[in-house]
Amino acid sequence: MAFSVSSSFERIRTVLDATPGDALPSLAALTAAADSLPASLPYNGLGEEATTTHLLQEVAPGFNGPKTSANYYGFVTGGVLPIAEVADNIVTAFDQNVQVHLPDQSVSTVVEDRALTMLIELLGIGSPDQWLGRTFTTGATGANTLGLACGREAIIAKRLESAGEHQGVGELGLLRACAKAGITEVQVLTSIGHSSLYKAASIVGLGRASVKTISGANPWEIDLQALEQKLKLAESGCVSIVAISAGEVNTGKFATDGLKTMQEIRKLCDEYGAWLHVDGAFGLFARCLPDTPEFSALRTAASGLELADSITGDGHKMLNVPYDCGFFLTRSGAILPQTFQNPNAAYLSAGPSSIPSPLNIGLENSRRFRALPVYAVLVSYGLVGLQEMFVRQVRLARGIASFLYGHGAYEVLATDGKDFEDTHIVVLFRAKDETTNAELVKRINGTRKIYVSGTAWDGKPAVRFAVSTWKVDVERDLELVKKVLDDVVRS
Ligand SMILES: *Cc1c(COP(=O)(O)O)cnc(C)c1O
Repeated sequence: MAFSVSSSFERIRTVLDATPGDALPSLAALTAAADSLPASLPYNGLGEEATTTHLLQEVAPGFNGPKTSANYYGFVTGGVLPIAEVADNIVTAFDQNVQVHLPDQSVSTVVEDRALTMLIELLGIGSPDQWLGRTFTTGATGANTLGLACGREAIIAKRLESAGEHQGVGELGLLRACAKAGITEVQVLTSIGHSSLYKAASIVGLGRASVKTISGANPWEIDLQALEQKLKLAESGCVSIVAISAGEVNTGKFATDGLKTMQEIRKLCDEYGAWLHVDGAFGLFARCLPDTPEFSALRTAASGLELADSITGDGHKMLNVPYDCGFFLTRSGAILPQTFQNPNAAYLSAGPSSIPSPLNIGLENSRRFRALPVYAVLVSYGLVGLQEMFVRQVRLARGIASFLYGHGAYEVLATDGKDFEDTHIVVLFRAKDETTNAELVKRINGTRKIYVSGTAWDGKPAVRFAVSTWKVDVERDLELVKKVLDDVVRS
């Protein structure tokens, strides 16, 4: 009998729907899954039917639940909205290669661009023609890498122009360009930058050591005075990229407190020739919350980010599309191709168009059609539907925060009040008792019902909840979370 893809899809759903929905599989299931893998390449293959059974019945029980469980609060993971799962299967089934814009052959690049312009609308950062550089990436790490690459290209080009040189880093390379421009150092200024910022700095040749933290009174805030001092080094040949953490991954807090601060930073960047990048992987979506008193503090904190030269966002977190998906936006349509031009391949040229070929504006040549699940989510839910999802996430996070606040055994960190009006989707806390605190993450995750991430805050262990799945049911989930948090300090 011929192998049937469609009946296999039904089997996938059946297994998925029967999965208990716990955050983690049992240790026994993990061991059994690992033990089921053949030790080496089969000489005669199992065949597609038997392999489907192997995958679904032996391997899949060893998967964890960041995307399938309603109660996985580690990292920031999001879930997978049903329509996004469907779209992702369509992506695989039709397997479009979104690298060259060929509008008379495939609509895929048009869909990708429309998804990007609708994202710009969703985020309320202006109109699509203000963000002419735009592309999907594999995630926020990819987008931060694009951000630093564009920043590097732009700030060095400015100096090169003054020196009468019209080629940039993309052509000359970093060493020659800096020598010609009289640049001795390129620094990345941030406050608790995400780890991927350091990685991006290494990839684009600036080095991890180029990332400098200039925090204010609260460590997640950027210190404007220190920023100006560092930017002034431009006078002695040190040029800068400013990277705004919006929000910071341990606390969910924003490096800036609103439009006025962003305006000041914008002004400083213009004065000293610096590039302004925003890492808004998940925090960016605070901008889409309803304009009501409940969310006004958050909306204020996230305002002004539109003044950046470039913005990183994630699709596979708050938007609840499958891995992997992020996006990158920058104002100029020219800066991406200056860096990412894939030259000398006449067979890949698309001819003039308002939609650039993705291969000339990002890392990859051949690319997955990762725009389609985003497009499907945006079209299916619209602004109001997405707001409703974001609201549930924020309410659960605030519910957890206020439970912890009123609980004798816990202490909520990185917050100044008990109203949690500035709480987005991340809650940072610890147990007051040091011994309990040292093993708190282990105890919580040991229940395997919910999953949280451990981190360090003020030099001591701390725990964070990050609420980001579409599956949130505030009452139901709060009940489970409270029970687990009660139990683990009692035992
Ligand atoms: C998750 C995250 C990243 C890295 O994103 P990936 O999608 O995992 O590459 C970068 N910055 C921030 C603020 C994040 O939360």
